[in-house]
Amino acid sequence: MDAPSPAVDADAQVCLDCGACCRQAFHVVEVEPDDPFAVHHGALLVAEDGRLVLPRPGGFCAALRQPAVPFLCRCYDHRPESCRDFPVGGESCALARKRVGLAPLSLP
Ligand code: SF4
Ligand code: SF4
Repeated sequence: MDAPSPAVDADAQVCLDCGACCRQAFHVVEVEPDDPFAVHHGALLVAEDGRLVLPRPGGFCAALRQPAVPFLCRCYDHRPESCRDFPVGGESCALARKRVGLAPLSLP
């Protein structure tokens, strides 16, 4: 695996402190077979209902470095497409934060 990197954005301290989208806010991340994550970190994936998913045992993504805080993705350079596309400060971010009891970000 790659060296630990910030879970969402290399410059976003707020993500290091939050990690909501990488933990309890969502159940799994679905990964396409040709996704770079599947190519480089396939051992972390499991088959579920005909899909490849990255599970969250105990509520934490299998790619999260432990202990969890700060929230660092061990596979950041090859993180799944849905992780790459996750917009910091967007609606999904606000939903994830709400699900773990955090207020939405207030970005400039
Ligand atoms: S939920 Fe938003 S603030 Fe929290 S880690 Fe994900 S992108 Fe960053
Ligand atoms: S693969 Fe990395 S960025 Fe994606 S949910 Fe897991 S820890 Fe977060």
